[in-house]
Amino acid sequence: MKERCRETLERAYLFLDGELLSVSERHEIKRHLEDCAPCYERVGLEGEVSTLVARLKGCQPCPESLRLKISSLLDETR
Ligand SMILES: [Zn+2]
Repeated sequence: MKERCRETLERAYLFLDGELLSVSERHEIKRHLEDCAPCYERVGLEGEVSTLVARLKGCQPCPESLRLKISSLLDETR
């Protein structure tokens, strides 16, 4: 996993875990997930990416399954 991808997923995870991120930080994660094919595939189904993106926009609760998925992605590469 590229360093940039890892950082993005780590931040996404922290965010889903309740950490507050600034609007620009959230925007950065969103843009990376949309532009980076490996991350897009990693996070999985298109629906899950849009759930995360919606969450980043502040309008949807995070499903526990998505949080666990990102967590396990990060564990795999440790
Ligand atoms: Zn990436």
